[in-house]
Amino acid sequence: MPLRETEAVVLRTHRLGEADKIASLFTRHWGRLRGVAAGALRPKSRFGGTLEPLSYVRLWLFERENRDLLRLNSAELIESFFEMQKDYRVQVAAQYVAEVSERFLPEREVNERAFRLLLAVLRGMKRSGEINRPLLYFNYWLLRLGGFLPDLAHCAACGRALGEEGYYGPGSEGLLCAGCRTSQTSLTVSAASLGMLATRCQGTLDLWLAGEKAPAGVREARRFLEELIESHLERKLVTRQLLAEEV
Ligand SMILES: [Zn+2]
Repeated sequence: MPLRETEAVVLRTHRLGEADKIASLFTRHWGRLRGVAAGALRPKSRFGGTLEPLSYVRLWLFERENRDLLRLNSAELIESFFEMQKDYRVQVAAQYVAEVSERFLPEREVNERAFRLLLAVLRGMKRSGEINRPLLYFNYWLLRLGGFLPDLAHCAACGRALGEEGYYGPGSEGLLCAGCRTSQTSLTVSAASLGMLATRCQGTLDLWLAGEKAPAGVREARRFLEELIESHLERKLVTRQLLAEEV
């Protein structure tokens, strides 16, 4: 069993027995996977304090064929996102990013663009202390990279241009126009928010955060994309509820 090296973002960890940890990871070379870090909870372990949620780490692990859990050998910290999580809003936003990544990204599927997206979003939150634009950007690109972003300009049912507003309901593939909306379409999204989505998310997040204040409609657009993600996952996200309460 060869020892392999990769970079990874730690999505979540939990305790296993007295001294071990299971880490859910998004790795650069093998995509999302889970590994056991034996002895990680011991004071002098080879993992130090590296296996914390959202840490960006360099990781050495043993590949095991046909095994669900890999064995982690050691890790070193490349970049920490711990300090920023002392702000509760940022902590919840970071947990949302981890939860969505864990649910949305298929296991063992390499996705370099999603890996860079995850880092860009975490760094955006760390530098700006803002969560709305980073989360909007994250949702937009995750849906788009997965091929699940609907047409934002036309009605999903009749194909007409949407006009001033689009309407969305859980489980729907896309937005509906005023003529096609039903009692299920509980969410209204303004054309301004949709236009902002289409333009601002094309550049880098850094550029957007540096250039101006968050425009009106960011939260509305963010909630619409959260609805899309939940519809796609066919489940409610725990952290989305927390975000709605706090942010
Ligand atoms: Zn229509």
